[in-house]
Amino acid sequence: MEVVVTAVLPPQTAVSVPPVVGARLEVPLVDGTRVRYANLDHAASAPALEAVRDAVDELLPWYASVHRGAGFASQVCTRVHEQARAVLRRFVGARPTDAVVFTRNTTDSLNLLARAVPRGTAVVLFDTEHHAALLPWRGPAVRRLRTPAGSGDAVLALDRALAEAPVGPRLVVLTAASNVTGEVWPVAELAAVARRHGARIALDAAQLAPHRRVDIGALDVDWVALSGHKLYAPYGAGALVGRGDWLRAAEPYLVGGGATAAVSERGEQVSVSWVPGAERHEAGSPNVVGVHALATACEVLGRQFDGVVEHERALLRQLRAGLAAVPGLRELALFGADHDRVGVVSFTVDGLDSGLVAAVLSAEHGIGVRDGLFCAHVATARLLGRAGSHERRAVRVSVGLGTTAEHVDRLVGALRSLVADGP
Ligand code: PLP
Repeated sequence: MEVVVTAVLPPQTAVSVPPVVGARLEVPLVDGTRVRYANLDHAASAPALEAVRDAVDELLPWYASVHRGAGFASQVCTRVHEQARAVLRRFVGARPTDAVVFTRNTTDSLNLLARAVPRGTAVVLFDTEHHAALLPWRGPAVRRLRTPAGSGDAVLALDRALAEAPVGPRLVVLTAASNVTGEVWPVAELAAVARRHGARIALDAAQLAPHRRVDIGALDVDWVALSGHKLYAPYGAGALVGRGDWLRAAEPYLVGGGATAAVSERGEQVSVSWVPGAERHEAGSPNVVGVHALATACEVLGRQFDGVVEHERALLRQLRAGLAAVPGLRELALFGADHDRVGVVSFTVDGLDSGLVAAVLSAEHGIGVRDGLFCAHVATARLLGRAGSHERRAVRVSVGLGTTAEHVDRLVGALRSLVADGP
């Protein structure tokens, strides 16, 4: 069957975006030929920026202990690590009093926050959350709201839940952009409702931060959690940025060197005083290379966000127009087809198993996508039901700085031939 090229114009290449590594990778196909890899799985982990690779290369010869050594290399690493805090602050528009705690990723950041929340805090969240945001909160004071029918419905549901919440500290946990549908949540509106009820707000920005500017002050949230590997840096570094009071008052998330101000003998026991700041949650030798990589990515993206947004919008338009022309393809949506979204689209194809679709795209076309329930089992299952799909899992395509118009065309052509000719 002839490969159908979508009638949509490819994105203008004039937009200047930071280059990523691996753009010329080739992968083997099942027929023995090789093809340029089309990475359409940016929402899982994005390829590193070339600038990030260069920054890591530059730092590696200086690799030494942070906050612990007197040598010159240790001083370099300590300075790099602390400068990274300043970069993260700028990247999310932190307020002067906000703390930056380096973590391993968004999951780690939200688990840390869950440990620091005062006992008895009423926690309210939607069941659409990624498991990283859905699961760390436990106990009778946690209220999970059902997947809303639309964004107005979400605002009303939150308002109602907070009106019924017990007196005392309250926390609302929100996703900035869905990892299933890419839809951008009405964070500012929801935060305004939360504030009216005296609640604090934690924002899971894992999916929004790589694509749009996140501003703690403008959104009026208390904490932002993010992951380096979704932000065009390698694995292993993330951050929790926001209010310091609960973090400073909590027992350290991990105990050990770095969390302690002083440890002394007291009979058979030891007496410990913890570092007074929120950095008490960074016990152990810090991941200075990962943190430097994350900060470099934030700096580069922060300078070129307009280009990043334009590049991704053009690709998303091309992608959705192409997918709309594939017979039997059902796109998942929470807030509606026209709702603002980052470059993530999940779908099923009538009569085709999603796992098989993903496998064929990889083996026969060199296209990397993801299939499954995307660590958001409740949300994805419900959205599959709403889309009228009989499939039990979906295919997810996500674009980013490593994506080209040819990747999108190849995907749409492959799906059309799969539908026409079968697997
Ligand atoms: N939140 C969202 C919306 C995500 O998409 C992800 C990862 O897919 C996470 C949280 C967890 O991120 P990490 O695996 O980097 O901790």
